[in-house]
Amino acid sequence: MEFLVSRTFYARGQTGQQLLLGAYSAMNRQIAKGKIQMFSRHEMVELVKVDGKARGIIARNLITGELERHSAHAVVIASGGYGNVFFLSTNAMGSNTTAAWKIHRNGAFFANPCYTQIHPTCIPRSGEHQSKLTLMSESLRNDGRIWVPKNLEDAEKIRSKTIKPTELKEEDRDYYLERRYPAFGNLVPRDVASRAAKERCDAGYGVNSTGEAVYLDFSAAIERYGKEKALVSGIKQPSVEKIIELGEEVVEQKYGNLFQMYEKIVAENPYKTPMMIYPAVHYTMGGVWVDYNLMTTIPGCYCIGEANFSDHGANRLGASALMQGLADGYFVLPYTIGDFLANDIRTGPISTDLKEFEIAEKNVSDTIDKLMSIKGDKPVDYFHKRLGKVMWEFAGMARNKEGLEHAISEIKTIRKEFWENVRIPGDKDEMNTELEKAGRVADFLELGELFAKDGLERSESRGRTF
Ligand SMILES: Cc1cc2nc3c(=O)[nH]c(=O)nc-3n(C[C@H](O)[C@H](O)[C@H](O)COP(=O)(O)OP(=O)(O)OC[C@H]3O[C@@H](n4cnc5c(N)ncnc54)[C@H](O)[C@@H]3O)c2cc1C
Repeated sequence: MEFLVSRTFYARGQTGQQLLLGAYSAMNRQIAKGKIQMFSRHEMVELVKVDGKARGIIARNLITGELERHSAHAVVIASGGYGNVFFLSTNAMGSNTTAAWKIHRNGAFFANPCYTQIHPTCIPRSGEHQSKLTLMSESLRNDGRIWVPKNLEDAEKIRSKTIKPTELKEEDRDYYLERRYPAFGNLVPRDVASRAAKERCDAGYGVNSTGEAVYLDFSAAIERYGKEKALVSGIKQPSVEKIIELGEEVVEQKYGNLFQMYEKIVAENPYKTPMMIYPAVHYTMGGVWVDYNLMTTIPGCYCIGEANFSDHGANRLGASALMQGLADGYFVLPYTIGDFLANDIRTGPISTDLKEFEIAEKNVSDTIDKLMSIKGDKPVDYFHKRLGKVMWEFAGMARNKEGLEHAISEIKTIRKEFWENVRIPGDKDEMNTELEKAGRVADFLELGELFAKDGLERSESRGRTF
């Protein structure tokens, strides 16, 4: 008897989205009840410590540019991961390291910065002018078979569009994961799948114009599902066309939304021609160090979700990130933060007139003025892209001592040039997305160096990387 095992539980390729909707709804309910005050379009840009304890933050109103002081008995950072240090990643464009980096600069330890998860199933980049990568859900590997041409000449013919992938005979295809890992096949862990794809592409077998793509082929699944459905529906001796039609219906039911998204982006029909995928930076296991109560090394400063380093070790499992976020927020923090507040709440409200707030605000204001005054001739993205390329080439999936040392020195150079030559148009007292980006990239340029140094410290293999 054959058992088909799904690697993760999922909701039609929308698992994350469904979990997010649940979390959003729960938060909105609390906002409506008046238990949470919402400040949208605000960015935390500095932590304020009073007597060594976290007592508030400085935030910038992203619409007016105004700096605001917010005081509290404790501060919780939930600002997500820093995958965008690579410039290209599957993360939202607004994801950044600033909040985590600011508390680190204020004394919170940072753990395992170099632990980055590279996701194997993303839509490959199409060229140089791309700022975002799109994830194809992990669930696709339950049914897709991964392959590249067996021969270099065929790979070249596919890249130059001399032949179509569907024209390549079965014996001329290399299902390299099934060949190398027969027990797991296409369901090998993410790091193994990602490394193997890069290795094949680096060896010249990549299949898109950049040479950075492998195929994820659903034709076998379509055929299998088609035959099963014909059997269940009592259709005797179905034609090949009927089997494909029925199989596509099943695949559409499972992954229709993803296939549609792929077709919109790549302009190819993945039911008829194999999907192209390539690894992309997706998740950062490293982050701010926290104890079992989720408190950082700064008393009263907590860090939850992807921004902290906990739970996942060197490689997270599929679907565990959102569960960590929900567990931290629903089940852990509400109980552990009381332990700290019990002793501190008696101080009464904390005034934002304290000199610590004044100093923190002045520091932020000075940094903004400095950025605005540079008036160089390169946009923020120019430096971010350069940083991303260094990170990907020398601190990404494959690393070695020379490469990491090179990365450290390159990042220092880019950082120096950034502070001498960045150009931020507009004004600081208005909505200014270039200024926002500049602050974030300034922090990425510091984090990137720590990242590479951390990689250099580790000669062991940590699953997700060499
Ligand atoms: C495309 C994609 C698909 C994914 N699919 C899955 C999945 O199926 N299952 C799974 O388990 N995980 C999945 N993940 C991972 C998971 O979504 C993240 O790990 C998780 O959302 C992290 O939650 P978080 O609340 O810690 O941070 P985030 O969801 O990143 O939220 C952080 C928030 O903080 C805001 N912020 C950042 N800096 C500041 C600042 N300085 N001031 C104010 N606000 C700030 C950000 O704008 C953002 O709104 C996916 C991730 C991506 C990118």
